[in-house]
Amino acid sequence: MDFDIVTSNNTPEKFFSLISKYWSINDNKLFIHSEKDLREEYGRKFKEIVARFSSTLIKVNCALCHSSFNILAKSRDVLIENLNTDNKICELCELYSPNYLGYYENKELDVKSQYDEISEFEKFILKGLVSLKSKMLIYRHIFNNNLEDKDLWKLINGLEKKGLIFIERTNDCKIKSFQFPTEIIKLIKDNNF
Ligand SMILES: [Zn+2]
Repeated sequence: MDFDIVTSNNTPEKFFSLISKYWSINDNKLFIHSEKDLREEYGRKFKEIVARFSSTLIKVNCALCHSSFNILAKSRDVLIENLNTDNKICELCELYSPNYLGYYENKELDVKSQYDEISEFEKFILKGLVSLKSKMLIYRHIFNNNLEDKDLWKLINGLEKKGLIFIERTNDCKIKSFQFPTEIIKLIKDNNF
């Protein structure tokens, strides 16, 4: 996840180095310059200056529809919290997607421990879903074109309830696409059965 520092035309040039130092993070998403150091270098009012003349825009992709959108962060806490949270949902999906509510319930679940608890057969199906990805290929090669397979649907709905997959549906509940948490994609790639 990436972010931009935002300043305005009113931001005096003399504050640019403070602002850029204030928001700089390293690869581990930790701030490079401590507030103590910045206070020593720029004086007691450094935070007020940063707050008045700058903010950050985090560029994220919606976990449900994949459209990109920005999150405004005006403080270090908000910036870091957002940089460390996966599966952001855009405003429109939050408002209109039927997947959002189900997704929200599962948000707190630890995907890794959910994955560890499912059976080998469920893992096999999940691996197939992740690898094939497209709805058409999943119907063809996992269902073998038999969409009436109730046991398979039961298993897949179970995976969805555990937060291991997200099923994007249209308004009339038809399946639009299968989506997977990044953690699951990584886990399956790493295990490379
Ligand atoms: Zn969205």
